[in-house]
Amino acid sequence: MIAIDLDDTIADFMGGFVKKYGPPLCGGRLDTSLRMMYPHLDIDAIVREPAFYLRLVPIEGAQRVLYKLSSMNSLIYLSARDPSLQDITVKWLRGWGFSAAPLICAGTEGKLMMLRRTNFIQILIDDMELFLRAASSDTQVIAYTQPWNKKLNIPRINSWRDYDKRGLFMPKV
Ligand SMILES: [Mg+2]
Repeated sequence: MIAIDLDDTIADFMGGFVKKYGPPLCGGRLDTSLRMMYPHLDIDAIVREPAFYLRLVPIEGAQRVLYKLSSMNSLIYLSARDPSLQDITVKWLRGWGFSAAPLICAGTEGKLMMLRRTNFIQILIDDMELFLRAASSDTQVIAYTQPWNKKLNIPRINSWRDYDKRGLFMPKV
């Protein structure tokens, strides 16, 4: 099974955030946590706001690649979004034509626990170091490249569009 993260892996969370709240205060750099970049905002409230997530757009090319992956492997969407966002997230995935697959909005702690304890995830594709590092040793981790994970020395997908064009190999599991 391949677990796919949502925000900043297939949904352009940071793009939506910058569009709504402007560039981050720390010199416009996007390589640290939201709380560091936007110390003046109530991040905890914003990340529970369904309307914000409904307006996000997919990262270009994600649907096509996931469609191909889903024909070879089973997929699961595994997100650190708050569980209260489950229904609107299903709606968003359907609305943008993403492959049908189970979705778990587990919250940060729930996602960490799942990654550490489950052995059914063979591959994890995620942008956050926290989750990539938390995955059990049975899981192959792949970073979806974002400014904040560039220093991580692990296999990565730089963009779905490139991946799609170059037809990169993904191990069958
Ligand atoms: Mg993410």
